[in-house]
Amino acid sequence: MTKQTKASKALCALIKKGGGQISLRDYMGFCLSHPIHGYYSTQKPLGKEGDFITAPEISQVFGELIGLWFIDFWESKGSPAQIAFLELGPGRGLLMQDVLRAMSLRPALLKALTIHQVEINPHLKKEQIAALLPTPITHHDTLENALKSIGNTPTYCLANEFFDALPLDQYIYKKGAWHKRYVGYDGEKEKFIFKDLIPEDHFGNCTFPMKPESGTIMETAPLVESLFRQLVAHLSKNGGAGLIIDYGYNDFAYGDTLQALKKHKSTSVLKNIGQADLTAHVNFATLLRIGQICPNLSVKIETQGDFLKGLGIEMRTQSLVQKAQDPQLKDNIRKSTARLIESSQMGDLFKVLQLRT
Ligand code: SAH
Repeated sequence: MTKQTKASKALCALIKKGGGQISLRDYMGFCLSHPIHGYYSTQKPLGKEGDFITAPEISQVFGELIGLWFIDFWESKGSPAQIAFLELGPGRGLLMQDVLRAMSLRPALLKALTIHQVEINPHLKKEQIAALLPTPITHHDTLENALKSIGNTPTYCLANEFFDALPLDQYIYKKGAWHKRYVGYDGEKEKFIFKDLIPEDHFGNCTFPMKPESGTIMETAPLVESLFRQLVAHLSKNGGAGLIIDYGYNDFAYGDTLQALKKHKSTSVLKNIGQADLTAHVNFATLLRIGQICPNLSVKIETQGDFLKGLGIEMRTQSLVQKAQDPQLKDNIRKSTARLIESSQMGDLFKVLQLRT
């Protein structure tokens, strides 16, 4: 008999309590953010030693150009003296470090900022504090608490690869009906399994832009949408700007984008409970629509490649290459930029949602 881990035992108990299954969203919620067993509560996810690498881990230029984007916005508003700078899911703190380095071109902006970070991972919280020393940070466990603490102060918000780490629901079309995806436990085979059931809150006669074929999967992300709604309502009321950067899609699309990553390799979504990152593409089409109905807010989406090129990444790279002495370093700088902007790499898959009041 395979020995169950503490995490999978706790998950089995939750499944039992749910009558034999829990929704995929609850399953992901457990695996990612359970306070004792969850991936983001316990693991060190980022970097070569971790499970995945993000843009600020690839190149400092990414954060520096984002810093310039915020400087431009700040100046367009007459350089206000009080701003809350809110980052969601700051990882190892490198992004904020690079952003603040670029912002040091405008000392009055640095002076205006109070930094708030939303983070659940205790290891990363420590790294974030260390990365920004001596600049103080206020940490919050949820966006809601962060927004309460910020109050009516104009806010700049930054989130890179945060929304892809939030739980979602999947629906699968088969036998002429949409089924909701749940997770159960097969006691004989001793493994977690998908269970596709017709849910009580099913789509009924809703029409969809594309007729589904049998086996089609559709994803919905109510948690992503609700956090984004809170954020845009806050910006719209108090003023400010935001950059939401993530991999995802711009048009309504069917498809299974959920994947599990462990040590930079794809693994089964139903294994390594609490030990692997579970991540899915962000539906930017929906976020755009939510943003567009907010008063006083302008919303724009670009690919990461276009966004960074628009901010001058090629020139900045050129100047770093010229300054570097070592040919190997020159090559690394060029390759890192290519990784961020080439369409065959992160350039097209990653999108940048820009919010401005
Ligand atoms: N922005 C960073 C890290 C992205 S990884 C970068 O670009 O490198 C995702 C980050 O979100 C991590 O810091 C992770 O601990 C945090 N995170 C994941 N789920 C979270 C949740 N539910 N609430 C708050 N933070 C979360």
